[in-house]
Amino acid sequence: MQNTHVVIIGGGYGGVRALEHLSKNSRIKITLIDKNSYHYMQPEVYDFIANKVDMSHIMIDLPSLCNSFASVTFLCDEVKAIESTSSTLTTSTQTINFDYLIIATGSRTYFPDFIPGLREHSHGVKNVPAALDFKQQFERALLNRIETQTQGCEIEPFNIVIGGAGLSGVEIAAEMAAYANRFYQNGNFGCRGVDVYLIDAYPTILFGMDPFLIESAYERLIKLGVYVWHNNRISQVDEKEIRLDNGKILHFEFMIFTGGVTASTLTQYLGFETNVKGHLIVDEHLNIPTHQNIYAIGDITQALDTNGKFIPPTAQLAERGGEHVARNIIASLNGKEKYPFHFKNQGVMIALGGEYGAGILPGGIKVKGYLAYLIKKAIFWMYTAPLRRRSTIGKRR
Ligand SMILES: Cc1cc2nc3c(=O)[nH]c(=O)nc-3n(C[C@H](O)[C@H](O)[C@H](O)COP(=O)(O)OP(=O)(O)OC[C@H]3O[C@@H](n4cnc5c(N)ncnc54)[C@H](O)[C@@H]3O)c2cc1C
Repeated sequence: MQNTHVVIIGGGYGGVRALEHLSKNSRIKITLIDKNSYHYMQPEVYDFIANKVDMSHIMIDLPSLCNSFASVTFLCDEVKAIESTSSTLTTSTQTINFDYLIIATGSRTYFPDFIPGLREHSHGVKNVPAALDFKQQFERALLNRIETQTQGCEIEPFNIVIGGAGLSGVEIAAEMAAYANRFYQNGNFGCRGVDVYLIDAYPTILFGMDPFLIESAYERLIKLGVYVWHNNRISQVDEKEIRLDNGKILHFEFMIFTGGVTASTLTQYLGFETNVKGHLIVDEHLNIPTHQNIYAIGDITQALDTNGKFIPPTAQLAERGGEHVARNIIASLNGKEKYPFHFKNQGVMIALGGEYGAGILPGGIKVKGYLAYLIKKAIFWMYTAPLRRRSTIGKRR
């Protein structure tokens, strides 16, 4: 009997998890397609840009990972179109047939057009080259700063602005502040070094999250010396200056924007139904409603809970989606009914600079401080250890 061919587009959190589950079934052969040759662990990027870890910490080699499974082929290529009626897709180099397709191409930073200059003058961290550019430019600027200090402390402030106080903005602000403080305390700066500003239009940071997380994060940011400007809307960004709706102007050396995400560009070419931000609409099985052999998971979709309430995109949601569509594909192969997707949040952990964190564990248990930091690191280790072990097995000589 011929094997069923499942194609997964995107080797991020959702795609890799689907692959792990599908590969256990001997009747399935899998092709994973990603435009990059690595799995990028975005939730750890704050440690990378603050120089606590190197690049190897946030990446896993996808060809080696795929090589460790007998039934998985990796293709490093960009998918350009999907022809749903003929069950084929087109990449930059070839056309591929599929029996089932999983779209898991994630999201990208959303730079709203109504903020002039934002896209041109701020950095994103949603991909490795952008994070690396930021880190390298930041270190160079830091060195320049140290050299300039020989002329005295009456120099322009060195400000880092982070636009958007959601989960990623808060984690980056806290880690950058802890990093700058370390520099200062170690005697690397003769004068007060770097100031971090976290700016958001909402009335609180982490808007919509549990009050315990909001309060813990706020307290920690203040302790680290971060200037938290919530209720402040960015209206314009110039080369080294940010303007706010309330008339404030702030000079900056670097700006990172984490104020929102939009679906990956692929959705623009598919002709499938999307919401206003380009996220794919899926049914209760995570299928594209008009195509029962095409699934979409993770950041690229509009995820809703049973009350129709929006579920924020997270790695956790993408992973559960990956497991779920694998289960549904196998159910279809066995002639069984598909299962509806119900997302149960297993909690949230936030890194808050240095060896400090805050979070809510399953069962609603609240933790903060060093213990929360250790739990966050343990979760990351449990996620990466099996993948690293596999990619070592599949290493190309
Ligand atoms: C700074 C930061 C901190 C975060 N912190 C957390 C956190 O603490 N906890 C948490 O749960 N989540 C966190 N997230 C969110 C989390 O990273 C995402 O929700 C998760 O990565 C989504 O997984 P995904 O599989 O949908 O997409 P991704 O992981 O983004 O993977 C998408 C993949 O698709 C590939 N791709 C895209 N387009 C194409 C194409 N046309 N052809 C081929 N390949 C393509 C990309 O190269 C990529 O490998 C954070 C995100 C950021 C940026």
